[in-house]
Amino acid sequence: MVVIIGAGPIGLATAIELQRKNIESIIIERGCLVNSIYHYPANMTFFSTSDRLEIGNIPFISHGPKPTRREALEYYRRVAEHYELNIHLFEEVDALEGTDGSYTVKTSKGNYEAKKVVLATGFYGQENLMNVPGEELPKVSHYYDDPHKYAWQNVLVVGAGNSAADAALETWRCKANVTVVVREPTLKQTIKYWVKPDIENRIKEGSIKGYFNSEVLEIRETEVDIQTPDGKVTIPNDFVLAMTGYHPHFGLMENLGIELSPDEIRMPIHSAETLETNRKGLYVAGVVCGGMDTSSLFIENTRIHANHIATDIEKNL
Ligand code: FAD
Repeated sequence: MVVIIGAGPIGLATAIELQRKNIESIIIERGCLVNSIYHYPANMTFFSTSDRLEIGNIPFISHGPKPTRREALEYYRRVAEHYELNIHLFEEVDALEGTDGSYTVKTSKGNYEAKKVVLATGFYGQENLMNVPGEELPKVSHYYDDPHKYAWQNVLVVGAGNSAADAALETWRCKANVTVVVREPTLKQTIKYWVKPDIENRIKEGSIKGYFNSEVLEIRETEVDIQTPDGKVTIPNDFVLAMTGYHPHFGLMENLGIELSPDEIRMPIHSAETLETNRKGLYVAGVVCGGMDTSSLFIENTRIHANHIATDIEKNL
């Protein structure tokens, strides 16, 4: 038996590749199926075309070339159903005992015996904090869902990437008064090519106020302080959308005995060929492999991990 931790796209792909080799697996997932995608903004459109998100050789047909969150949820649900994957939802993995060939995986609901273990836990769910006073206020969120609630409100969006651009544009189009704070001198080059001119032009024309080379200093109930190159600015504020990114659960990796690279990337040490970590019989799969480098690994370029891991497990079982 192989235990896969995480029912994201790559955990599912790994279970399918193992099934093709007649190797039994269980997926343990702390939330719902494809929990990260479920928590993406309601109107989110992928930057990848649907064919690049496919797993298990099942075609992903979407209405446009770039699928929506809703289409992706249905696609992965159908794939899991088609392959009759054994998935335990709403159960969190906390620890791992034993050695290669006889591991015990400890979860919030019980224990599982496993010959091999695959960690496919992604990074979504652990927020990169701004570490400023007021960040704990209920009006501050690191997750953006739907724009409607922000109509006629003063919204501060923090960040320079896709999530920040989407949140700023959508809330502005729903009549919010939006200010964007960016630490860097410009927005990120990686913003979806069809979104970038839109956000840049809204900032240029002044519809959305942009502060670059700037940082949030303090958040209070009705206003925020921003450090700008021209000094401290205080603006009225009702909501803060901190689109500052996420990081893998390093504590869990350490609990599982996975060594991390000593630099600031904190990449879990693993073989590029087999994805096996320093702990024999324990593999990493999907975007968790990148450590803090969360912007270069995606579904499209990590789904191949499933084949590498299944091949190595078959060889070693
Ligand atoms: P995840 O999908 O994050 O799955 C990990 C799973 O592990 C989660 O379901 C989580 O709940 C679970 N888990 C975590 N800890 C535990 C635990 N202790 N016990 C049990 N379960 C646990 N990628 C693309 O390729 N193309 C795109 O167009 C694209 N668009 C994106 C748009 C947005 C807004 C965002 C935020 C991301 C986008 N991505 C895109 C990135 C993509 O979502 C990730 O690459 C993908 O989800 C990674 O898959 P994964 O299986 O490695 O991890």
